[in-house]
Amino acid sequence: MTQVYGKVALIGLGLIASSMFWAMKRGGVAGTVAGYARSEATRDTARRIGLCDEVCDSAEEAVADADLIVLATPVGAMGAVMQAIAPHLKPGATVIDVGSVKQTIIDEVTPYVPEGVHFVGTHPMAGTEHSGPESGFATLFDGRWCLIVPVDDSDAVAQVETYWKALGADTERMDPEHHDLVCAVVSHIPHLIAYTMVGVADDLRRVSDQEVIKFSAAGFRDFTRIAASDPTMWRDVFLTNKDATIEMLGRFTEELFALQRAIRTGDGEQLHAYFTRTRAIRRSILEAGQDTDKPDFGRVKVDR
Ligand code: NAP
Repeated sequence: MTQVYGKVALIGLGLIASSMFWAMKRGGVAGTVAGYARSEATRDTARRIGLCDEVCDSAEEAVADADLIVLATPVGAMGAVMQAIAPHLKPGATVIDVGSVKQTIIDEVTPYVPEGVHFVGTHPMAGTEHSGPESGFATLFDGRWCLIVPVDDSDAVAQVETYWKALGADTERMDPEHHDLVCAVVSHIPHLIAYTMVGVADDLRRVSDQEVIKFSAAGFRDFTRIAASDPTMWRDVFLTNKDATIEMLGRFTEELFALQRAIRTGDGEQLHAYFTRTRAIRRSILEAGQDTDKPDFGRVKVDR
């Protein structure tokens, strides 16, 4: 048991916040946890399933006396949330966010952070395609990276790192611009490609809906899983990480054209060399313990 903070307030009670709560409970990481979500329905669900020690009807109430405040809403809501809670934060408290982009959040949130309160950007590189208060689980962050994006070098940053390690994650510090570029490559563009691929299949009227579902091979099924991710969250990611995603999309399109040309001209050597290089990347992800090589990525088969 490693208590890192006395009172923690979770603002937003979706996949990430609920997983943080269960991980905090597992490790005794917080003395007490208060939670708030925008809708009454979500707050009712949280109360019903025992998510948080106390579910409050306002963010102001939840953050009162909190030592750590976690902004776990979609990225686009964080600035307004910070503005609303700012007058109610206790001196010495630390605010973190868990958003998938960093520069925009820092720009929109830090102007409202009061004197004597610390802000540290954080991004757990873990998730599923599910959302909402019932989707969280204690092991979500185990062995996964949490990127720490400090805006100063106060002791609060080290305490935030201790906190994420107590939730099971490994941490690494990054500056916001580099964070946004890395995440565009490893997360944001792959999501956009999955959304596009599933959209294209849906548009292809020569392939009926039944065929798409019945014959969906592993590759397409993986795209559909990713493309089922929360629309609000991903809309906000692309609107707030515009520069990095457009830069990376440009590079992606160039590569795609090169492969298209190789196919058209029958350049098997180029295709083979390309696929050999990408296969090696998959091997290094497995070696780094970031995925499993079990069939179907270790997913349990469900008989229907
Ligand atoms: P989620 O499951 O969709 O939950 C979002 C929560 O935020 C809901 O409880 C929602 O409440 C609440 N909310 C929305 N607007 C709010 C507001 N103005 N005030 C208070 N609460 C508000 O989302 P999530 O997947 O946990 O994502 C949360 C954050 O983590 C996002 O910024 C995302 O970029 C980041 N992230 C997500 C993943 C992932 O894979 N999902 C991974 C890493 C980081 P209602 O239910 O009442 O609307």
